Amino acid sequence: MASEQRPSESYFARVFADPWACPRCGCRDWRVANTYHTKTDSAIHRRRICRHCHHVRITVERFTDAEGFE
Ligand SMILES: [Zn+2]
Repeated sequence: MASEQRPSESYFARVFADPWACPRCGCRDWRVANTYHTKTDSAIHRRRICRHCHHVRITVERFTDAEGFE
């Protein structure tokens, strides 16, 4: 019943094989639709939409050189 909303195993297999490829159509043509900050992890989140099939994914961006320093 609850499995309708869950991505299939093949979905995860494709994302794992190439995280930047669209899991639905296989392209890498992402368009940034929205950029926002969250206070919980102080990272930049970008909502990306596939130009071809309009699949939506979100990327998280942060400064890695800031970790471990005061
Ligand atoms: Zn796509």
